[in-house]
Amino acid sequence: MIEEIYRKFIRDKVESGGRRAGLHVSDLVSDCLRKSWYRMSGLPVIHGDDSVTNFYYGTTVHESFDGMFEIMENKMCVNPYAEITEEEMVDIDKEMKDNPFKWVSGSFDALYNGDTILDFKTAKKLPTSPSMSYIKQINFYSYMYYLQTGVEIKKGCIFYLDKSTAFHNVREFHFDLLTLEENRGHMIAAMDEIAGEEPPEKVPGILCTVCPYKDNCDPHGYYDYKLKRFIN
Ligand code: SF4
Repeated sequence: MIEEIYRKFIRDKVESGGRRAGLHVSDLVSDCLRKSWYRMSGLPVIHGDDSVTNFYYGTTVHESFDGMFEIMENKMCVNPYAEITEEEMVDIDKEMKDNPFKWVSGSFDALYNGDTILDFKTAKKLPTSPSMSYIKQINFYSYMYYLQTGVEIKKGCIFYLDKSTAFHNVREFHFDLLTLEENRGHMIAAMDEIAGEEPPEKVPGILCTVCPYKDNCDPHGYYDYKLKRFIN
């Protein structure tokens, strides 16, 4: 009985607020851009209970770090084609509605030591190497931060927290970032693919099990959702 109230409570929290028009950095970094194409096409998002729980606690953990660093939750919204930011627009909401494929929003978790963009990530098990999509995400943040402030950040860090040890075990990965021009190029390439009339290629993988579009996508021709495995 309480479980029902609990599930409804966290689902309502996760689904409240809505999203800004336009793209989000997370749309551009997944291996499968088809997912973002579906989202921008207005296909209804259907999150399973496990995704909702994961998202809720991920957000809660992030909020608990407030105050750890001087610059935290740095929000950005840019148009990489015109190389402008939302601060330069008179009516950004209208502009984003009119040109949703030209604008990208996102926020990094913290700026560490004045020279490193830091993101916290929760994981079921600490990885031995950082996720490529998270590295790409921090690279895109560096380009967005440059447009916003004129400051080029050249280093990134992902700080993983282990859910299975109640966040006691942690692991950090530091890496150099690509140049601003390289990041702009990669960002625009992904945006162009998502804006195309034809959907990007499907890239089936382990994340299909939590993809909100899996029921529409049919990633491998036939996917057995009950068994959670692909049948070729
Ligand atoms: S189900 Fe898999 S292949 Fe299809 S959009 Fe989602 S992640 Fe991509």
